[in-house]
Amino acid sequence: MLAWVLLPLLAFTGSASASLVSCLQSHNLNVEIPQNTTWNVSTTPFNLRFHYTPAAIVYPTQTTHVTLAVRCATQHGVHVSALSGGHSYSASGYGSRNGALVIMFRDMARITYNSNDETVVIQPGARLGAVALSLNDQGRALAHGTCPYVGVGGHGGFGGWGMAARNWGLLIDQIVSAEMVLSNGTVVHLSATQHPDLFWAIRGASASFGIVTQYVFQTHQAPSSVVRFSYQFNNTNLSTSQFTSLIEGYQTWASSTPKEVGIIANVLNGGKLVEMGGLYMGDLKSFYQVVEGPLIGRTGAAHIVYVEEVSWITALEQVWGSSLDTQQKPDTHDTFYAKSLVVPASSPLTPSALSAFATHAFFAPIPSSLSWFVQFELWGGGNSAISSLPADATAYPHRSHLWTIQFYARSTTTSWPKTGEGYVNGMVSAITNDAGMAGTVFGAYANYLDPELSGWQEMYYAGNYARLEQMRMGVDPKGVFEKTENVGGPDILI
Ligand SMILES: Cc1cc2nc3c(=O)[nH]c(=O)nc-3n(C[C@H](O)[C@H](O)[C@H](O)COP(=O)(O)OP(=O)(O)OC[C@H]3O[C@@H](n4cnc5c(N)ncnc54)[C@H](O)[C@@H]3O)c2cc1C
Repeated sequence: MLAWVLLPLLAFTGSASASLVSCLQSHNLNVEIPQNTTWNVSTTPFNLRFHYTPAAIVYPTQTTHVTLAVRCATQHGVHVSALSGGHSYSASGYGSRNGALVIMFRDMARITYNSNDETVVIQPGARLGAVALSLNDQGRALAHGTCPYVGVGGHGGFGGWGMAARNWGLLIDQIVSAEMVLSNGTVVHLSATQHPDLFWAIRGASASFGIVTQYVFQTHQAPSSVVRFSYQFNNTNLSTSQFTSLIEGYQTWASSTPKEVGIIANVLNGGKLVEMGGLYMGDLKSFYQVVEGPLIGRTGAAHIVYVEEVSWITALEQVWGSSLDTQQKPDTHDTFYAKSLVVPASSPLTPSALSAFATHAFFAPIPSSLSWFVQFELWGGGNSAISSLPADATAYPHRSHLWTIQFYARSTTTSWPKTGEGYVNGMVSAITNDAGMAGTVFGAYANYLDPELSGWQEMYYAGNYARLEQMRMGVDPKGVFEKTENVGGPDILI
């Protein structure tokens, strides 16, 4: 890490707050401050393990408001952070520190489809549920994640994986262009031909470079129907050897399954249940031949099976397990600790690594207030679109990888049991330290942001980090957007 990054580039003081607020108000911006009755709600993050107190929150309705807010902040030595859907795993939308100016995109959530070129213009505050519903009304679709409340601003900044991603790519792979406000308050338009370097950087590391005020995505025709499927393997408490051979079979099948399949294997209930589910973008007849036959041939028969041909939007609703309409009920919160492991296709999980994982996950002591799930998300394999690009095509680098494994433990109360971290870390190290995986270069996924991750620069960005760090020095030399695990930033802010 370069020494200049560690200097106090912007010195926030209490008195800056009052003058910052009067600067924002002098431009007639919609500003929220700690004295407002709504403040507590506005500053409560999705993950209750984290809490930061901003200097103020601005609610822009147009790009000019963002430029004015950024200029006020830089004049007053205050860091700036965008918050779109607020679903960061570590409340990073609040800037990973107290005293940042938060630009909250609640009122910039428009979704405008253009039938001439089949693109859609989406403002960062739009939630994935609204995007899916709005595009479906036009017979169109995008590949993106599975939670309706997640915002496009963060999701489209670091990857954006969901059930259609093996077929259509990550959300970042569908970006045609973007509009961004830089640290000096200027507005730039980014595409393959306009500021191509910055266009490359925002597809995987956007929060380090500026504030995206709109994206243009290339849409796809929504399938007239898809096959929704779910298999449960739960007749007994799975032993470690049953678990190992089940996931081994899944992995062998996964490495050559066609890109039309989106699937997760979810390990639940303390390891007593493995559920494999997803969707297939084809018809029922080919599903049985191409997906179910080969999968069950490898895993052995499932004990509960659900297979049905449904509309595209019904499939998304079923995968997400709730209505896509986020207006129907308010967002929830969680208290959790999560890690991710990106596994190269060239180093598939060995039986000994799977067995070591299961031994720890199923039998190690666990705090009584903790429940967990682990997802084996299939990103690569076969002719996956994610893997069709080279590692340096976008800032997001993990292209020749089979799995992203997500390890997620939540507290059943609002407080976090400290020993929970050790339990989750043990699941990860059971895999990474296994002798059979020696020499494997694992990665991690920046959208499953993990502030405790050591070596995050390489884990998130691999060989692309040096170029990103060089670029960030030029684009944001004063570190206006500096925060935990942003490019060029510190590991953890004190
Ligand atoms: C319940 C849940 C389910 C999820 N499911 C999936 C999934 O299926 N697939 C998947 O890939 N991920 C998934 N995620 C992870 C999710 O993609 C990330 O947490 C994502 O960053 C959230 O985006 P956001 O806008 O909601 O969050 P925010 O907290 O608003 O932002 C997250 C980060 O992005 C930055 N950012 C936000 N807006 C902008 C902007 N306009 N310009 C620049 N930077 C910006 C913020 O400053 C912050 O650093 C899930 C997360 C949760 C909590």
